[in-house]
Amino acid sequence: MESTATLTPCPLLIDGAWTNPNIASTPVFNPSTGELIAECPAGGQAEVNAAVDAASAAFPAWSETPAVERARLFFRFRHLVEQNFDRLCHAVSREHGKTLVEARGSVYRGLENIEYACGIPSLLMGDTLEIAKGVDCETSHQPLGVCVGITPFNFPVMVPLWMFPVAIACGNTYVLKPSEKVPLCAVMLGELLIEAGVPKGVFNIVHGGREAVDALLTHPKVRAISFVGSTPIAKYIYETGTKHGKRVQANGGAKNYIVIMPDADVPKTVEALATAAFGCAGERCMAGSTALAVGKAAERMLPSLVEAAKNIRVGPTDRTAQPDMGPVITSEHRDRVVGLVSLGEKEGAKIICDGRGVKVADAPKGFYVGATIVDQVVAEMTIAREEVFGPVLNVMRMDDLESAIAIANRSNFGNGASIFTNSGAAAREFKHRVKAGMVGINVGVPATMAMFPFTGWDESFYGDLHIQGREGVQFFTQQKVTSTRWFGGDAADVWRK
Ligand code: NAD
Repeated sequence: MESTATLTPCPLLIDGAWTNPNIASTPVFNPSTGELIAECPAGGQAEVNAAVDAASAAFPAWSETPAVERARLFFRFRHLVEQNFDRLCHAVSREHGKTLVEARGSVYRGLENIEYACGIPSLLMGDTLEIAKGVDCETSHQPLGVCVGITPFNFPVMVPLWMFPVAIACGNTYVLKPSEKVPLCAVMLGELLIEAGVPKGVFNIVHGGREAVDALLTHPKVRAISFVGSTPIAKYIYETGTKHGKRVQANGGAKNYIVIMPDADVPKTVEALATAAFGCAGERCMAGSTALAVGKAAERMLPSLVEAAKNIRVGPTDRTAQPDMGPVITSEHRDRVVGLVSLGEKEGAKIICDGRGVKVADAPKGFYVGATIVDQVVAEMTIAREEVFGPVLNVMRMDDLESAIAIANRSNFGNGASIFTNSGAAAREFKHRVKAGMVGINVGVPATMAMFPFTGWDESFYGDLHIQGREGVQFFTQQKVTSTRWFGGDAADVWRK
């Protein structure tokens, strides 16, 4: 057991002060080595009450702060995130296990959300129209109050940044409940926001798991909840939050299909497929986890895809020499991923690249699975239905585009779907008919950037307004429509004299 002296502190942020309450905690590991690196306090009702009270008390003054001044906070924050970019990327690698290249990509995606929040004065502008002679109508967008973010383990910096910059720039105050598996990056973001000058109480952090979440979902002063995580929890958050009168946007899990047409460019498609399936060790809600190979596509692609997968070097991401792929988040998760692959084999699939027994000599206690390709998967298999969330690519053989679209559309999820082809007609047909919110054409991971909404469908999203883009701004504000008329005549003309 690690001595507590060497553990990284993991305080809560309440009303502008870092606190270390004497409460139970859960272990945080460096998945590259299996070492304990921190203890995450398991906040409950008392910690949530204190954070929400602080956020509620800070709301009147913050919501009255002009939008241009609120935006300036995020210009300063953006500068600090950029100055501390390497430190943040190393922190992502250390507690999550992304390679530094992947960590950099993810922190950039987060940075773009801060940049989007810097544009809030323009984004909040309303419409105006003379609706009848002498009568003007105008819309304005006002903040809601205390907003909450509950985030998953797989993007420790990016996903919190999807939420709180825009929420706070809109004039709301905030309580972030990061994943208890990766709480340290959230603490760094809190430190940088304080350095940028956020007034006390405007941004708070409560660590913990289910108890903290339940206290937030039912707290009468919480107005809106943003959630990103697995589907069963997303559904629970949506149902419980809305039952308690809150706005909820809840992103869930996914199973994303990539259709490979027989005319697809082989080297480019193989490269994109390997990145989509094995990037971030497959722990992405937009991972391309199933290739639907149409006609001769499988014969054309598989030899070089298997070779590419076998060449992926797995290893610790917290060292100078970087691997191609890092570990998965915990030993339990590694065992689940390996178990699903073995079940697939038992149910009749063929493992054509097997990463189950991968050994990493210089980090024997890390949580590793090598790149794995499971061929001849059929729709009824468990591995075809469940989100694996590891470096595993299923291959399903399809007769034609029609049957590939039918398979993709049978899924309960609806996050992303891609097609690789040189045919505009095939791409157009796919784009139009596939039931997924984010579509890629010769793009393996069609995840949207800050200015576009992250548009999951079906069991990949519960709510009405998605995270990011203008929908994000709408989620964090309520509209007011004011109709105005001024009566003419002497009294009204007084000012002219
Ligand atoms: P998770 O659902 O286990 O946890 C997410 C959050 O919910 C955490 O903060 C956790 O503390 C909390 N939580 C967990 N169990 C809870 C419970 N019983 N009651 C209340 N709160 C609970 O998800 P995860 O394992 O951290 O993240 C991986 C999942 O997130 C995958 O399914 C992935 O597809 C999904 N994800 C989705 C998106 C998206 O935009 N659709 C993005 C990233 C990740």
